[in-house]
Amino acid sequence: MAINNFYPEFEVVRNDSRCIRCRVCERQCANEVHSYDTEGNIMLSDESKCVDCQRCVSLCPTRALKIVKSDCVFRENANWSENTIKEIFKQADSGAVLLSSMGNPNPLPVYWDKILINASQVTNPPIDPLREPMETRVYLGKKPTDIERDEHGNLIDNQMPQLKLSVPVMFSAMSYGSISYNAHESLARAAEKLGIFYNTGEGGLHEDFYKYGANTIVQVASGRFGVHKGYLETGAAIEIKMGQGAKPGIGGHLPGAKIVGDVSRTRMIPEGSDAISPAPHHDIYSIEDLRQLVYSLKEATAYKKPVIVKVAAVHNIAAIASGIARSGADIISIDGFRGGTGAAPTRIRDNVGIPIELALASVDKRLRDEGIRNNVSLVVGGSIRSSADVVKAIALGADACYIGTAALLALGCHLCRTCQTGKCNWGIATQRTDLVKRLNPDLGYKRLCNLVTAWQHEIKELMGGMGINSIEALRGNRLMLRGVGLNEKELEILGISYAGE
Ligand code: SF4
Ligand code: SF4
Repeated sequence: MAINNFYPEFEVVRNDSRCIRCRVCERQCANEVHSYDTEGNIMLSDESKCVDCQRCVSLCPTRALKIVKSDCVFRENANWSENTIKEIFKQADSGAVLLSSMGNPNPLPVYWDKILINASQVTNPPIDPLREPMETRVYLGKKPTDIERDEHGNLIDNQMPQLKLSVPVMFSAMSYGSISYNAHESLARAAEKLGIFYNTGEGGLHEDFYKYGANTIVQVASGRFGVHKGYLETGAAIEIKMGQGAKPGIGGHLPGAKIVGDVSRTRMIPEGSDAISPAPHHDIYSIEDLRQLVYSLKEATAYKKPVIVKVAAVHNIAAIASGIARSGADIISIDGFRGGTGAAPTRIRDNVGIPIELALASVDKRLRDEGIRNNVSLVVGGSIRSSADVVKAIALGADACYIGTAALLALGCHLCRTCQTGKCNWGIATQRTDLVKRLNPDLGYKRLCNLVTAWQHEIKELMGGMGINSIEALRGNRLMLRGVGLNEKELEILGISYAGE
């Protein structure tokens, strides 16, 4: 008996009078939704395979197609949503852990949308960013607290290694393997052009991209895939990945089917073997252990590169960050619970971790209270969607933001949320050569540059409106923020007043 013969989630609506039987949709769909019936000279659709990636809609030359959400629904209620019912059916069928990709889709609070930004009126006049200088440059890394002089009274350069960013935005960690060669090339070239950084994720660095090393953050994760001395020396900074917002407390998993050719060589593991990184680093069980790895990596690179420690935003994040700030790390990266992923167990993604806004505010406060805020820079990610989110994050205490999903959207991702299948029709989350070719890195890199440049203009406008002319003056300036629709506890953690106060 077919209990779970679901009616498809999406319907393919084809306007037959417009369809010229060019079969573009058939060729473009890696999910094999469309087919041509020679006898009847008609196009057919197997809607059960459709993931609503919108590839066919975008490329149909006559606008004959649209994909709509099916209105065939389960009899849901407030407790048993349609999605919950379907998930139970799937698990009863398979006995397996549910897998998902991209970020947590649940309607939990997005605090960015409950925070509003100040603007100058009458006193403290605004600054016009078109006519006056506006500084969006930031330096990430430990800042010296004392002026040191030698025995002759000359100043000693005690500056620790820094990352210089033209704008406080970086591309977050996405491994070669989870995303394609062309996606990586687009990110690397855009980072170089923009004067920012992209991040290898835990998949190692393809030899073709060593030339972008000055704009590359190389990651060291628990699986140590692709990590060797040359790799560490090539990057501008080294990121130790302890956790990830989409899957705190567990390791990574890239299926063997994606470990092919260059991906296998770059990761230094055999073709076809699953790349499973363990939940913990097997040499880290305390802050002292973390400190050892931080200093091993510094030693291996002659103390020339800042070391970042990336953690997921979890309940006791302020105490964790305080420990990391004392471990010798130069930068702490915190990834919130809405952060994206190529694949994660659904239950972990949707139920573990905390919002980045609350994590950031509490970490910044804790480090300030302990007088160690200048020991580290703070970089936050996990669903930064616009320049306004960046400005709010900086005012809450961040030095810079990581963007992942927003960068993929700029590359053409349509958020169909099926990256884990490896059949990304837009050439991003796939290793299939026919699909990878669909993402043109020349275009991809330009679109990323456009996105970050547009955000930079908007950041300047927002800062100018506040009468602030540098990121430095905005950082941690919570007086520039007000809350709406928040309770007293939330306002207390965020360290902001209610609108009208
Ligand atoms: S791409 Fe459009 S016009 Fe071409 S076969 Fe498909 S629906 Fe018809
Ligand atoms: S990267 Fe590709 S598969 Fe993943 S959500 Fe975007 S369009 Fe879909």
